[in-house]
Amino acid sequence: MSQKVKGAAIGIDLGTTYSCAAVWFDRKKRVEVIPNEQGNNTTPSFVAFNDSELLVGEGAKDQIARNPTNTLFDVKRLIGSRFHDPQVQKDMKSWPFKIIEGPAEKPTVVVELNGEEKKYAPEELSAMVLKKLKECAEAFIGREVTDAVITVPAYFNNNQREATKEAGTLAGLNVLRLINEPTAAAIAYGLDHMADQTWHNDKNVLVFDLGGGTFDVSLLKISKTGVIDVKAVGGDTHLGGEDFDRTLVNYCVNEFKKKHREDLRRNPRAMGRLKVACEKAKRDLSSSIFAPVEIDCLYEGIDFSIKVSRAKFEELNASYFEKCIKLVEKCLFDGEIKKKDVDEVVVVGGSTRIPKVRRLVEEFFDGKTVCKNMNGDEAVAFGAALLASRLSGNNDNDNDNVVSDIVLQDVTPLSLGVEIAIKGVHGNMSVVIPRNTSIPTCKKGIYHSLIYETHACISVYQGESNKVKENILLGRFELCDLTLGSNGMSKLEVCFNIDVDGILLVSAEETSTGQRKSITIAKI
Ligand code: AMP
Repeated sequence: MSQKVKGAAIGIDLGTTYSCAAVWFDRKKRVEVIPNEQGNNTTPSFVAFNDSELLVGEGAKDQIARNPTNTLFDVKRLIGSRFHDPQVQKDMKSWPFKIIEGPAEKPTVVVELNGEEKKYAPEELSAMVLKKLKECAEAFIGREVTDAVITVPAYFNNNQREATKEAGTLAGLNVLRLINEPTAAAIAYGLDHMADQTWHNDKNVLVFDLGGGTFDVSLLKISKTGVIDVKAVGGDTHLGGEDFDRTLVNYCVNEFKKKHREDLRRNPRAMGRLKVACEKAKRDLSSSIFAPVEIDCLYEGIDFSIKVSRAKFEELNASYFEKCIKLVEKCLFDGEIKKKDVDEVVVVGGSTRIPKVRRLVEEFFDGKTVCKNMNGDEAVAFGAALLASRLSGNNDNDNDNVVSDIVLQDVTPLSLGVEIAIKGVHGNMSVVIPRNTSIPTCKKGIYHSLIYETHACISVYQGESNKVKENILLGRFELCDLTLGSNGMSKLEVCFNIDVDGILLVSAEETSTGQRKSITIAKI
C-alpha cells in the first residue's frame, strides 16, 4: 500500500471557510498540527488580489471589507460544479465577487487586477490555498513537502473529487489519496482511543461533521486493532456555517430596509462588512444568549446596530438544523444500524459548536452525550496526516508504528448507473452500484439495445435521482454494429468495477459476439 516519497507527506483538511494541515512525526510518534505564519492552527480558505500582491489566508480574510469584489472565499462550493447548477446560481447571489461561465460550463471567478480582468477556475484558487499550507508545512517541518492526503466531504461527487485532486497537483503536491472527511476524523478517533482498556469489541461510531460549507455524516465500525469499516455515508455538500451566516445577513438586510428604506445589497462593500459582523455574531451566540451586530457608517453614512438573540438565530436556521438530523436518520437506515446500537457520536467541524446543533444531535440519540474530547477543527487533518504517513512509506519503523495498523474500508457515496430508455423514452437511470456499497467492488447489469438499433450509447451517471438529468454525467461510449437477435434487439452486459483507489472502470460487452468496449473514470 505504501510508496516511498521524496519529501515529507502531510494531511490537509481543505475546508470551505478554514483549512488545516498536520504531519505525523515518526521520531516523536505523534501527529502535530501545522501552524500558519500567524501561529494559528487553521487558515482561512481565502484568496485576495489587490493592485500589488496576492494574499492567501488570514491576510486575505482581514481585508475583505476594503476589497470585497477581489476577495474570494467559499471556492469549495464551486469546485467541480457547473455554472448552471441551481446551487451555484443560488450561491452566486450572495457573493460579492463576479462569476461567469467558463470553458466546459465551469464557473469561473473574475477579478480585477491593475484595471485588467483576470479569470480563475475554482481549482486554481484552491491550489493557492493548498500552496500556502504547503509552504507553512515546509517552514514547520524544515524540509520539502512533496506529498499529501487531502480530505473531501464524503458526499462529494466524482467531478468535485477530480477537481480537488487537480488543485493539489497545481499546488505542486503529489496527491497520495483523497479521503472522506468523516473517515479521517474516525482515524483520529481510533488512534485516540486505542489505548482505552475498556474497549474490547467493535464500536459503531457516527461522525457528525458540520463545517463551513458542507455537512457530512458517516457511520463506521471501528475495531481496536485499527480496522475502520465505513458502513454508510450521507450529507449535503451545500449545508454549513456559510448558510447560517447568510440567513443572519438576510435578516439584517431586511431590518435595515424596514428602518431606512435602503437596500444594502446595492453596495458590495456594505455587504462584505455585514458578512464579517454576522459571522462574529453567530460565533458569539454559541456562548451568549444575545449578540450585537454593530457597524458604523454601513451605508451612505447610516450606522447599523441590532441585537440578535440566540432564539432568533435558531429560528432563522431551524430548517437547516432539521435537515442535518434527517440526514443522520437516513445514514443509519442505509447502514442498517439502529440508533440505540451507536456506541459513540463524534462531532467535528466548527459549526458543531452551535449549542442547538449539539442539543438536537443529543436529543436524537435519546440523550447520549456527544464525544467532545477530540478537537473538532483539527481531527480531520490529524487523520489525514496519519494516512499520509502510512501511504508515503516514510515512517522508518513500520512494525512499531501505530500508523501501519490502520485498515480502511470505504464506500461509494453516491449511486452509479447507466442511462436507459423505458418504453422508448430516454433519460432514466438504472443503478448498477447502489450508494454505500463497500469498495473495491464489481457489479454487472444486463441491458438490451433499442429495437432495430445497431448501435448503443452507454452513458454513465452518478446520483440518486431516477432521472439522469438530475444526476452527474461521468462519461459515455458507444458500441456499434450490434448483432440483432430475433426480437430485434441486442443483449449487452455492462460491468462496473471500482478498485481500492476508487477508480471506476465501466465496460460493456455484446454477449452474442463478445464485442467489448470500456472507459475508465477516475476516482469516485
Ligand atoms: P470548519 O469548516 O470545520 O473549519 O468550520 C468553519 C465554520 O464553523 C465557519 O462557518 C465558522 O463560522 C463556524 N464556527 C466556528 N466557530 C464557531 C462557533 N463558536 N459557533 C458557531 N459557528 C462557529
